[in-house]
Amino acid sequence: MKRGRINLKAEVASRGGVTDLLQEPGDAVLIQRGVPRWLVIKCPCGCGEEIPVNLDKRAGKAWRLYRDASGVTLFPSVWRDTGCEAHFIIWRDQIVTFGGGTSSANSPGPSLDVTDLARRVLAIWPEGALVSYVEIADRLGEIPWDVQEACWRLVSGGLLVEGRGDARGTFRKVRA
Ligand SMILES: [Zn+2]
Repeated sequence: MKRGRINLKAEVASRGGVTDLLQEPGDAVLIQRGVPRWLVIKCPCGCGEEIPVNLDKRAGKAWRLYRDASGVTLFPSVWRDTGCEAHFIIWRDQIVTFGGGTSSANSPGPSLDVTDLARRVLAIWPEGALVSYVEIADRLGEIPWDVQEACWRLVSGGLLVEGRGDARGTFRKVRA
């Protein structure tokens, strides 16, 4: 696992000139026409490639971009299936690159106090069913990585259990 920072260099309307703006690993440019279209990132691994990440649902599989006081967050992770095969997340301005093809390391991101968030997550968690942390994040208007972190906190506190196998990433409330 390697940590770096994303450096959002500019917001532009078209792809032209983007390459000139991308100098260092982690440099990024947001292409926006009305709505966010692409986040183009200079690969954080240092291979020099530009990774275009689609942000526009109308154009197929799309990532979500969150921008607020905490910085830039992209969800879900980016996993290149060609070239260097880099696998990384962008979370609150941090880029965390995974090695060895796994993404299972808990708490890879910024150190974050999730005490209050965990309380709010638990308060709205439906009874009985396995529910994805992404669904809960959407209901709360929170960043999914943050909510995932809060879920892990709740798991270690014995208040949630995580699904297994294909159900990983979903959690169920432990009956009191
Ligand atoms: Zn790379």
